[in-house]
Amino acid sequence: MVVPDEIPNLVDGKAVPAASGHSLEKLRPADETLLCRVARSGTEDVGAAVAAARAAQPAWADRTAVERGDIVRELALRLREGREEASEIVASETGKPIELALSETDAAVEMGLFVAGEGRRSYGRTTTASMPHRTVLTLRQPLGVAALIMSFNTPLPNVAWKAFPAIFCGNTAVVKPSEHTPASTWLFGELAREAGVPDGVLNIVHGLGPEAGAPLVEHPDVDLVSFTGSAATGRWINETAGRRLAKVCLELGGKNALVACDDADLDAAVRWALASAFSNAGQRCASASRLVVFDDVYDVFRERLLAGVGDLDPQPVISRESLDRIAGAVRRASEAGATVLCGGERLDRRGWYFAPTVVESAAAEAEISRTELFGPVTTLYRVRDLEHAIALVNDSSYGLTAAIHTASVHRAMRFAERVQAGVVVVNAGTHGSEPHMGFGGVKDSGTGWREAGVEALDVYSDLKVVNLVSDPVQA
Ligand code: NAD
Repeated sequence: MVVPDEIPNLVDGKAVPAASGHSLEKLRPADETLLCRVARSGTEDVGAAVAAARAAQPAWADRTAVERGDIVRELALRLREGREEASEIVASETGKPIELALSETDAAVEMGLFVAGEGRRSYGRTTTASMPHRTVLTLRQPLGVAALIMSFNTPLPNVAWKAFPAIFCGNTAVVKPSEHTPASTWLFGELAREAGVPDGVLNIVHGLGPEAGAPLVEHPDVDLVSFTGSAATGRWINETAGRRLAKVCLELGGKNALVACDDADLDAAVRWALASAFSNAGQRCASASRLVVFDDVYDVFRERLLAGVGDLDPQPVISRESLDRIAGAVRRASEAGATVLCGGERLDRRGWYFAPTVVESAAAEAEISRTELFGPVTTLYRVRDLEHAIALVNDSSYGLTAAIHTASVHRAMRFAERVQAGVVVVNAGTHGSEPHMGFGGVKDSGTGWREAGVEALDVYSDLKVVNLVSDPVQA
């Protein structure tokens, strides 16, 4: 399946251009050549997609959970059949290596298979009651129309994490993918049609955030907004959809720290630091943008880290704007007194490549210590001991993931208990999740919901309590 020259929207099972007839250019990050044009949607397109979703929802919710799970499985299997092709699309629209794109496609498939299995579980609860002849149980109910808005960084898992559980739970969906990664979501929509997802159940509206995303958030007929992206956009979404008391699930940024203690296996800690900071060009919500190292091993850690950076194969960032934003932040860090140990500038080649960058001696309150750059930049910090490390890690507005490298169970547990994060990793990287593990953060990293795992069912459904009185005469 080749990416079409013009990527259309998907509304009520039909491929349609934007009502305005306008489109956006999508360039390849690796060489800045044109990949395709994309529907530049607005309020009218959003209205049509929400109407289609609303109309399709009751019949979809009437299907049994097993039937909906079977359709989700069929879609996941089609994605698995076409994994090479899907991954090539992801690689060309993001510039990431094909091996990474393949692993992301596989992760998206696994999410579909995990959710499909819920068709034959989807457990509720039964409980007792204080009154006789009464049984109390819970039923999972869909919410209605779900707006699913997402970032570009891992485009297929991003759509899979939301679309699979959203439609499985009996909602219908309007997806607004990132304007930087329209092609993989277009493919997802095509596979959904082939897999038998009924018309109107999964709609896709492409375009820019303020033009296509904002009207979706503001639409009065949208019952749930599930968003993955920056804290700034998430805050606006929470305020806007919150005003009409719509349910809002936010998965936002991170300023994730990896701590290397003086009893750590330093080679392993450096290896994980490199992977955590620089894979996907640092464009991961769980990216280790802060490396917190005990004084006693700091110099050795730094030396090995810099040697490792020299061996990396750089990957482009998603856009010219990202490149300029990252370069500006590193320049300002240097002007504010931090030391750029390596990188710090655009690579001298075609494409949006920023050299993997390590900074040190930045103040804790400096912009580079506080702001998520979403690029291949990490900052080293020197600490005295564990308590100092925990205080520094927690001195952030974000709280998504955190990692510690230590041989001590005591230090590992103390860190796990005290660090402000949704995910803690001992002796590995600051990384994301697997389909059966809930993922999300605290503070500015989210609003407390967890994506993936059975926890995702709580985002996309409501638990209704049913009181069954078996003997009305006696009761
Ligand atoms: P972004 O906030 O700029 O955009 C995300 C999505 O929101 C895009 O589809 C965009 O078009 C849309 N959007 C922008 N403005 C909007 C508006 N006013 N109304 C509605 N939609 C709007 O973020 P980004 O640059 O695409 O992604 C990077 C951010 O995403 C980082 O902060 C990263 O940490 C975060 N992220 C979080 C997770 C997680 O699970 N916590 C996963 C991946 C990425």
